[in-house]
Amino acid sequence: MKAHDGMYIGGQWRPAAGPDTIAVVNPADEQVIAHVPAGTADDVDAAVRAAREAFPAWAATPPAERAARIAALRDVLVARKDEIAETVTAELGAPLALSRTVHAGVPVLVAGSYAELAASYSFEERIGNSTVLLEPVGVVGAITPWNYPLHQVVAKVAPALAAGCTVVLKPAEDTPLTAQLFAEAIHEAGLPAGVFNLVTGLGPVAGQALAAHEGVDLVSFTGSTAVGRQIGATAGAAVKRVALELGGKSANVILPSADLAKAVSVGIANVMSNSGQTCSAWTRMLVHKNQYDEALALAAAAVAKYVPGERVGPLVNAKQQQRVRGYIEKGLAEGARLVAGGPEAPYETGYYVSPTVFADVTWDMTIAQEEIFGPVLSILKYEDEEDALRIANGTVYGLAGAVWAADEAEAVAFARRMDTGQVDINGGRFNPLAPFGGYKQSGVGRELGPHGLSEYLQTKSLQF
Ligand code: NAP
Ligand code: MG
Repeated sequence: MKAHDGMYIGGQWRPAAGPDTIAVVNPADEQVIAHVPAGTADDVDAAVRAAREAFPAWAATPPAERAARIAALRDVLVARKDEIAETVTAELGAPLALSRTVHAGVPVLVAGSYAELAASYSFEERIGNSTVLLEPVGVVGAITPWNYPLHQVVAKVAPALAAGCTVVLKPAEDTPLTAQLFAEAIHEAGLPAGVFNLVTGLGPVAGQALAAHEGVDLVSFTGSTAVGRQIGATAGAAVKRVALELGGKSANVILPSADLAKAVSVGIANVMSNSGQTCSAWTRMLVHKNQYDEALALAAAAVAKYVPGERVGPLVNAKQQQRVRGYIEKGLAEGARLVAGGPEAPYETGYYVSPTVFADVTWDMTIAQEEIFGPVLSILKYEDEEDALRIANGTVYGLAGAVWAADEAEAVAFARRMDTGQVDINGGRFNPLAPFGGYKQSGVGRELGPHGLSEYLQTKSLQF
């Protein structure tokens, strides 16, 4: 695969400060496909300086002109969608069909939404005798994970640019090639030099240097709760703004009146998509005790369609594969029963995990409490609606969820009582404008749409 051997800083590809590189591995066949530079604190410093230098002019650029650049960026993402999909498949392992529709497709929607918002958003409001100016926060340090390599980048960079901020991105070490393609797209779209900068590298080195850099005004992080906590502490000590999009353990609540077959099959698809590497995945399915056996039979039939290597890709790396297999073993050790799958890897080569469904899972088991980040679903039994609510809300997380019922109002009434940031009612469709983010330990702040834009703005009140 094509790779740059430098960093994209100040509008050009520059040699990295140090000699170290990161090998990029295709998780489907374990072959090294490229090397990228492993950034150091010096690279981060150069990138932050470039972003600071570019900030005043970009912040002063009329929103309509910023909108035009973001629209141009969207157009490049459209023009290069095949290359993007192939790159995501090569470094993440996602099946090509998923890479085309989701990994390459969703960022086009999100970039398009911010092209429109930049043009239409009111960066000024009247409150009584005050005019409130909504001004860009400054330089953004964006740290992203590998699970949706382009979406996670665009969900931060597009609103930051719309707001008038400049950005330094440190993408995940497992998926740097997609980030390099994005930097090329930024360049082609004609963004001014320094408005977007890319430093590839390792989290504890380049990521840590970016989060701690005094020239960064806002750190926007997506990833694990453990690292998020550390980044929040670093940012807090420096009185920097921080946005954290962390893990989840979302509940798919199937109320007795629901269309059980549909709820189960959509629930399985939701968890198996992207090999279960989705922070908002509904990894706990809650079923009424009278429908439990029927739900298990439906789940077993539904999951059989998810064949590893066909509809389900590998996990991103060997460590994640081992981690997920460890969770499956833990589930068995704690007394859960396998309906499908198991801890054995289905193939010798490639970081595959068998799509796994557990029955007889109780709310306090490890597999019902911790984020597994693999193709593993736990099906839990509830006694009545109060019990379902207690189980649904009974984790430290609160990112997403689903409720199914015959009557929409019944599902909404239940959703109102859930401690979570997003709920799909009877399989509701993805909305790129709806705020996305966590309650509780799933994070701080919101991404997407106007709420996502406001994360990158600060207010200045003028009194008259
Ligand atoms: P992670 O370590 O939190 O990685 C997220 C990003 O943070 C990556 O760019 C990473 O760099 C960087 N990073 C790591 N340590 C850092 C530090 N000390 N300072 C600054 N940046 C740092 O997540 P992971 O190790 O890839 O995955 C572990 C688990 O996190 C998964 O099993 C899953 O449970 C969860 N996860 C959640 C999401 C989500 O969307 N909520 C996404 C991915 C993972 P490197 O790439 O070099 O590590
Ligand atoms: Mg890591």
